[in-house]
Amino acid sequence: MKVSITDFFSKDTSCFFCHGKLKKKEAFTANVDTADGRLKVMMCGPCGKDFDELMESIEEVKNSGL
Ligand SMILES: [Zn+2]
Repeated sequence: MKVSITDFFSKDTSCFFCHGKLKKKEAFTANVDTADGRLKVMMCGPCGKDFDELMESIEEVKNSGL
């Protein structure tokens, strides 16, 4: 089995959405409730922003009574 150093480092330091490399200090973390339980995801700045917007639009849909 061959394990590259990049694979090792990408384990928990890559963005959940775009798989870009993350620095831990700059990473956003979010807890997402899924059917399998609570999942902690890490994401980069730009994806974190998108994620926030996505969550807001989901809340808007919920609040509109659908
Ligand atoms: Zn990302």
